[in-house]
Amino acid sequence: MAETFRLKMNQDLAERIRRHGAETFPYECCGALLGRDSAVGEKVNPEGSERSESPRETSPREVLDLFPLVNRRDDSPRNRFAVTAADVRDAEKAAREHGLEVIGWYHSHPDHPARPSQFDREHAWPWYSYVIVSVMSGAPAEMTSWRLNDDREDYSSENIEIRNRALA
Ligand SMILES: [Zn+2]
Repeated sequence: MAETFRLKMNQDLAERIRRHGAETFPYECCGALLGRDSAVGEKVNPEGSERSESPRETSPREVLDLFPLVNRRDDSPRNRFAVTAADVRDAEKAAREHGLEVIGWYHSHPDHPARPSQFDREHAWPWYSYVIVSVMSGAPAEMTSWRLNDDREDYSSENIEIRNRALA
């Protein structure tokens, strides 16, 4: 049925998203996820013996950096996260400077569950990963990730795989 998407990030980045959400509480934080979509140009199956059917679904994309944004919605910064065209330009510029791409967006839900709202759905684009961190009474709680389906009617959930930073 639904595809299983995967999003890798290290503990440090996950902490930074949570901290950003706590800092802006009771308002929403938001930012861009910079990284790589491993479906592009990367061999998914290192063993080579087994066929990998669809790299797009089996190979996780990876968050490698964050680009925090200012929540520009002055009217309702508590529950109205929206990325503007200027945000997209700035985030893409930052990504390019680090040899990365914008693979998604994160924002917080102050005192609300980490589930996309109707507003989120209406303002989301397919392909991107949307990370939502719930911040309850100022303390970061559940963190989830979603991708809008191509029909824009619904989301698929995306598993966040948090790992310890590998020291290179
Ligand atoms: Zn939201």
